[in-house]
Amino acid sequence: MKTGSYVDGKWYHPTGGSRLVKNTNPADTKDVIAEFPAATAKDVEKAIAGAKKAFESWSKTPAPSRGRVLARAAEIARRRKDEIARTMTREQGKVLKEARGEVDKGIACLEFNAGEGFRIQGKTLPCELKDVFTYTIRRPLGVVGLITPWNFPWAIPVWKVAPALVAGNTVVMKPAELTPATCALLVEVLEEAGLPPGCLQLVVGPGSEVGNAITANPDIKAVSFTGSNQIGYALYAQAAARGAKVTCELGGKNAVIVLPGADLDAVVPAVLNGAFGSTGQRCTATSRVLAHPDIMGQLTEAVVAGAKALKVGPGLDEASQMGPAVDKKQHAQDLMYVDVAKKEGARLLTGGGVPKGLDQGYFVEPTVFEGVRAEHRLFKEEVFGPVLALTPIKDLSEGIKLANAVEYGLTCSLYSRDVNDVMRFVEEVETGMVHVNEPTVGGEAQLPFGGLKATGIGGREMSTDGLEFFTETKTVFINYTGKAERSFVR
Ligand code: NAP
Repeated sequence: MKTGSYVDGKWYHPTGGSRLVKNTNPADTKDVIAEFPAATAKDVEKAIAGAKKAFESWSKTPAPSRGRVLARAAEIARRRKDEIARTMTREQGKVLKEARGEVDKGIACLEFNAGEGFRIQGKTLPCELKDVFTYTIRRPLGVVGLITPWNFPWAIPVWKVAPALVAGNTVVMKPAELTPATCALLVEVLEEAGLPPGCLQLVVGPGSEVGNAITANPDIKAVSFTGSNQIGYALYAQAAARGAKVTCELGGKNAVIVLPGADLDAVVPAVLNGAFGSTGQRCTATSRVLAHPDIMGQLTEAVVAGAKALKVGPGLDEASQMGPAVDKKQHAQDLMYVDVAKKEGARLLTGGGVPKGLDQGYFVEPTVFEGVRAEHRLFKEEVFGPVLALTPIKDLSEGIKLANAVEYGLTCSLYSRDVNDVMRFVEEVETGMVHVNEPTVGGEAQLPFGGLKATGIGGREMSTDGLEFFTETKTVFINYTGKAERSFVR
């Protein structure tokens, strides 16, 4: 396993700082995956200088050839899928089935962007003048900085790196310190696929130093960040102040609205998957259910039974259905919200503690509260853990109003068979992604991904939207009249 940072095609252990990156298995804290010296701001400078140099030739490499590197990477990742998934599960905690799904999603992003190498498009548009040809071309930005979280340690780095590279940029990437090994595998895969040295630089160290050094450096032309609102807002202000392009994908507090007549056989698995899949550590997780009283009783009974039946355990055990929280801090945050919800008067129906016999890691029970009101912190704040809030609604209007009554706007789902309700919901709900009769979770390589309101700054990721972020437009006027005079004043 490769550890440390990767700059100009070489893996190395930085020597400038005193801090260690401690990569530990959250399902068993005695299992130390790796311990190595963290990168410092000096390593970031070196990485940016190397990426700047590599940009000269990578940006001139024909886009279809850049795409072919990604196509080869997709094949290599497919061959190494099990290794990537196991590494991810060991350092992040998610169960193997989810880790394998995440590898597949990353492969799809590689494939999609490989194809974009043939399609990076400008526009040909008519000119006001005769015999003047006007068109646009899309150019890479230069060196771009990517800062990623621990919850999708493969898919998020891939969905940023792939469009950045195919557009002709070079990249300095900082993964979360909690999950560096999966990202190291991505670098290995791209290296094996023939990506030239310097095009992708990996610096592994604390966000406060390494992330900050990327954001502040004037040679970084754009920063793509996924993570918390607290860090994202500060980073946005810092990068925007020096004129850099920024995109931030931040928190979520996603709801499922259930109306009478909804098919409970479809709703219950969707809620269980949305709330407890990935231990609730998805920005798209279902953290609220807003249901009509006619259906709430049956729904509650089935969701509580499903939560109790979930097998919590180490993700590497194929029988486990829900893994641990990622670290001690997240574990404490999950339990803190259980406490807060109880104190605010919500009723705990199941879970709320540490499962018996699983104190070797950061495990939390799948937890369900009922009677959660709009003023409760559990209703409004992102827990990022397996804690579900149930709230009654009298009709669709109240469901939409309550779904929208949070600062976030990532995703929302409605279960209804009434086409009028469905169309109204799609129109009025304030989220960047809208689901009907399916879970709140998920995204696909070819579909724009991201949120409204406090969730998203600066446009969508994935799809061609993601690629556009990493390019800028040049407008070209070619006059072939052979004359100097102009009849049109622009
Ligand atoms: P985080 O604490 O904000 O960290 C995200 C990244 O930023 C990490 O690599 C972190 O490094 C780095 N960082 C920390 N301080 C920094 C600074 N001052 N300057 C620059 N970078 C800095 O978030 P997280 O806990 O890893 O991730 C969970 C959050 O991500 C949740 O809120 C979740 O909703 C959100 N998320 C959103 C989406 C979306 O698409 N909307 C997707 C996934 C996750 P270190 O941790 O190594 O210090």
